[in-house]
Amino acid sequence: MMHPAEATWHKSACILCENNCGIQIQTEGRRFAKIRGDKDHVSSHGYTCNKALRLDHYQNGGRRLTSPLRREQDGTFTEVS
Ligand code: SF4
Repeated sequence: MMHPAEATWHKSACILCENNCGIQIQTEGRRFAKIRGDKDHVSSHGYTCNKALRLDHYQNGGRRLTSPLRREQDGTFTEVS
């Protein structure tokens, strides 16, 4: 297991609203292990609201759809490719 001090912070941007605040992310596989504001970002200067800090929930939440769904006449849904 990697020591926390050795983990790499990846620069990215929050896409949850038009501000696109700069963020830095530590990943573990497909999960976002840690998220923080990017102090070097030209406009957000390290700021994030709470939504950005929960991006792992939005990306990997258990109720997220994993394929397109077609609504059937009876109101149920069928996965489609
Ligand atoms: S951190 Fe908040 S304010 Fe910034 S882009 Fe994301 S949702 Fe918008």
